[in-house]
Amino acid sequence: MAAVKAAVLHGPRDLRVEHASPPRAAAGEVVVRVEAAGLCGTDYRIWSGERAVAYPRIMGHEFLGRIEAAGAGAGDLRPGDRVVVEPNYSCGRCPLCREGNRNLCLARTAVGIDVDGGFAELARVPARCCWPVPEGLADEAVLLAEPLAVVVRAVDRGVPREGETAAVVGAGTLGLLALQVLRACGLRVLVVSRSDRRFDLARRLGAAETARTEDLEAVAGRFSGREGVDLVIETAGTAEAVTHALALVRPGGRVVLTGLPHEPTPVPFFSVVRREVTLTGSMIYQDEFPDALRLLERGSVDPRPLVTHRFGLDAIGEAFAAHRDPASIKVAILPSRAA
Ligand SMILES: [Zn+2]
Ligand SMILES: [Zn+2]
Repeated sequence: MAAVKAAVLHGPRDLRVEHASPPRAAAGEVVVRVEAAGLCGTDYRIWSGERAVAYPRIMGHEFLGRIEAAGAGAGDLRPGDRVVVEPNYSCGRCPLCREGNRNLCLARTAVGIDVDGGFAELARVPARCCWPVPEGLADEAVLLAEPLAVVVRAVDRGVPREGETAAVVGAGTLGLLALQVLRACGLRVLVVSRSDRRFDLARRLGAAETARTEDLEAVAGRFSGREGVDLVIETAGTAEAVTHALALVRPGGRVVLTGLPHEPTPVPFFSVVRREVTLTGSMIYQDEFPDALRLLERGSVDPRPLVTHRFGLDAIGEAFAAHRDPASIKVAILPSRAA
């Protein structure tokens, strides 16, 4: 079989597109011909060296494609099947896994981080990580299935009720998906961001109102017609984001945190206790991939407007530069496309 191309990270900022022998599917594994892969902040932090991985490493954890080959024991998956990859799998044996908290497993393996991922023509993954995708769904909708699963879990942990008000902190990929999931649950949504750059898009995607991160208590009061919003989904992951979320939520309300701030965060716990705010963390997903795919199929969530840039594998360096461009939301790598 002919050599295949992959973007191989040899060290911080040392990403090279190379030819290698094609991966072979072992028992319980499949090889996926990657049609599209999304680049996210995690990939950027690995590329820059801020997050260490074992080198050489092929990044890419948000991807879809077609089964190229299936090893023994790969279940019903057949060559040609269209699949999206759930890029985290757990040990299955520890107490956390046994009680169903597999997203919290300390021995969890992340495809594209701990093992090679989707910034390649072919990727080898456990068969159990592949979800079949209906042919009718656009590549660029399925491309966002992974971050959408993150958001589906976050919103679900906030116990949304139809007719409530909600605020989303952050207007990046997760924020703009959270907005749509909350809308699908029947909530009125305020989108809050440091910049007004994405406010037009947020409104097109269903936001009732948008606001900069200033004077948030007053903004939330006006928007909700009471002491603040019922539910806040925090997606920004900045040091101030929890403070912003607490300014927006009403006494007795709920805040779900999905952002992972990498610096110390000042949290005014007085405001949590005095107002009985429920503060909940939400980490990736447990069983949310099928729900995410259903939302895409029904058209309740349309992530296609979030895909702003597309690059072939040979231009992956430009893709990483584009990720930092304030005008970009989701950058897609299309390994089968000529640069
Ligand atoms: Zn990601
Ligand atoms: Zn485990």
